[in-house]
Formats: sequence, C-alpha cells, structure tokens
Amino acid sequence: MPYLLLRGLNHTATACLLVLLSACAEAPAQPLASSPAAAVTSAIGPSSTVAAPLLSFEEWRSLLRSDAIAAGIDAALFDRAFAGVTPDPKVIAADSNQPEFSRPVWEYLDGALSPLRVAQGRVLKAQHRPTLKAIRSAYAVDHEVLIAIWGMESNFGSNIGSNNVIRSLATLAFDGRRQAFWRSQLLAALQILQAGDSPSQKLVGSWAGAMGQTQFMPTTFNQYAVDFDGDGRRDLWHSTADALASAAHYLHNSGWDNGQPWGFEVRLPSDFDYALADPEVRRSLVQWRALGVKPVNPVDAREDNLASLFLPAGHRGPAFLLLNNFRSILKYNNSTAYALAIGLLSDALDGQPGVQAAWPRSDRQLGRSERVELQERLASIGLEPGPADGIIGANTRKAVRAYQQRLGRPADGYPSYELLQQLRSH
Ligand code: CA
Repeated sequence: MPYLLLRGLNHTATACLLVLLSACAEAPAQPLASSPAAAVTSAIGPSSTVAAPLLSFEEWRSLLRSDAIAAGIDAALFDRAFAGVTPDPKVIAADSNQPEFSRPVWEYLDGALSPLRVAQGRVLKAQHRPTLKAIRSAYAVDHEVLIAIWGMESNFGSNIGSNNVIRSLATLAFDGRRQAFWRSQLLAALQILQAGDSPSQKLVGSWAGAMGQTQFMPTTFNQYAVDFDGDGRRDLWHSTADALASAAHYLHNSGWDNGQPWGFEVRLPSDFDYALADPEVRRSLVQWRALGVKPVNPVDAREDNLASLFLPAGHRGPAFLLLNNFRSILKYNNSTAYALAIGLLSDALDGQPGVQAAWPRSDRQLGRSERVELQERLASIGLEPGPADGIIGANTRKAVRAYQQRLGRPADGYPSYELLQQLRSH
C-alpha cells in the first residue's frame, strides 16, 4: 500500500526512504490525490501533532453537510452515506503509525516479486490479452506494467480493502493530519457515490480511502477513472477492464513512454565516482556508457534517453539506470521501492531475467531513531544534513557523501550502520 511515509518527498528519496517505504510493502499501494497512490504519503508529515478538534463530530458533520450540498451533493444521499458513521480509531492509529523498523528493500522486493505473484501475473496477462490490447490502443501503455500495478495494488483484485471509505475519510478529515486534503477526498468520494459508479450503496477501500483494484484515491478517481467495459459505471471494484484502463489512463497522463524500459540493471567500473549516483544527476544513455556504466543484460532503449543512477542498497548492492518511465510510476505511488518493484515485476512478466547482482542481505538497516541520530551527528560535525527527522532526503544524502569523502570511502550517500558507528567514534 501506499507508502504513506514518503508522500510529498520525491524521487530524491534515498535508500533510507526506500526502507521506510518498504514498511508498508505488503499492503496495497495507496494511490494519492493527484496521483492515485500519492495521497497517502503526503498525508503523513514529519510532525504527528494533531490539535484536538474544536467541534464535536456531529457539529463538524453538520458544517460538512452544508458544504457538500453547496457543492451539488444531494442531501438525502449525504444523510444515507453518513448514517451511523462515527470516527474510526483504527484509521487514526494507522495514520499515526511511524514504525521504528521497516524491512530492507530486498525483503520488500522478495514479497513484491514472489514466484506466486509472477506466476499469477503471467496467467492473468494471457487471460486478459484482448482487453490489454484494447487498452494499449487507447492509452499507449503496454500490458506488463498494468498487470504489475494490479498485482501490487490489490493482489490482482483480491485485496481491495473493506473499509467504509466515507467513514475512513470522515475520520481523517475530522481528526487526522492534513485535514483539508482529506476533506477534499471526502467530497470527491461523495461525488463518486452520487455518480453511481459503485453498484454498492457503500464505497469500500483501504483505511485511507484508496479504492478498487488499482487503489485510486477519490480525487484521482474523478479525474482518471474510465468506464472501459461500457456498462455505464467506472467500476474499479468489480471491473478489471475499468481498473486496468484507468491505471493506463493515469500513466499515459504521467508521461508514459511506451516501448521504452522503466530502467535496467547496470554494472559500474571499479573506479566509478559514486557521487553520480544521485537522482539529481541525469545523463543520456550515451553519456553513462562513456563513463563505463554497462547494462547487465542487452537493452533496447533510445540512446538519448536521460537516466539517473540508483543504488537502492548503496554501492555494495545492485545498480540501476532509471529512465522516464520510472518517473511515471513514481507519479502513481511516490516510493522508489514501489516503482522498482513495479519495474522488476513488469520485467518478470515479460520473461526477462531478474536482478543479477547480490543484495547486501547481511547489512543491518538503520531504524528511525538511528537515522535521527545519524542526522544529529552529521550536524554536530558541521555537515548540514537538514532537520533531524529520520528521513534521508537530498540534504542528508549530501552530508553523508561529504562524510564518506572525508573518510576516503565510496561516496554513495547511503546511510549504513557502519557509517553511524564511525560517527559515534568521533
Ligand atoms: Ca464499467
């Protein structure tokens, strides 16, 4: 599910972010506001401070009702949707959850690309071939990435969530962080209910309101969901054609470049300057080749493609060049771990080999408080890692690189446990 933690951060997120993200790994990814999955992450800010509500839930609902009616929602529909609805403590708990430890990226990928998921995906890809071809004609998005998204978001439609979306969103809009954001999602959900897209009287979804087989947030739903099977409903819950076409519509609008890879694994020369492994450093494939960066397997990609080099586990793990389509996947769910999983799962569905280099599985991951400590210690020696929030963003990565350069180590910007130990000995 959506990698709530990452929202609002972008691809500059480093490996640590990956780790954070992967905390939510097994859950379906959560589409966000403007992006299907996007919403959830943005919902979580660094601060967990939530002011006590000034209004009772009933008072708040009454004000919302006036606003909803002014926005065109039928009063009777509003009352039906809110009948018996109370704030859900489980939703608040989920929204506040900031785990100390999360799984490393390789464990996340193990789950995301399990042999069972790959096998199921291949069967479903063959089974839905006519639909997938029609979708490709309409939106220029190829089969594999759609099947991969379907698998990651809802385990191919088998896990779409059973929460009452109106209740979840009302809880978050009333009492969560980013109340304005959730309120807009709630109003969008009421519009979906009124449009009759769901054959059910209730909208069901994740605790954060992501709906259907591709887990669209309500505002994303209203903007990008399509009725592809022609039954008059944008039914992302029950219609696989609608769900896959809606995901294709979203990717198409996110700049999907059909026929080009999302990225590919590469080998780096022994004298490589690891400071180039940074999302802010983009070079053409020709330029990367001139630097000695070589694909592990044969690749069919335009030479003028711009790519950035990504080391999800630092210089001791696999390396990838990421192309524009990776950025399109990030618009679906702003987590580099998620996007990597989608890319690798797409490759597997296409019969391509998996990651060749070994992951550093014995490496110990930093927990949240250790990441905070790392940032504090980097600051104490004048390296300006930014706020000590446990999130490894561009500033922290730069500070880590500077420290690694000081030590004469590969400057990959990766916050390893070994590096923290070194800082402790200062
Ligand atoms: Ca339909």
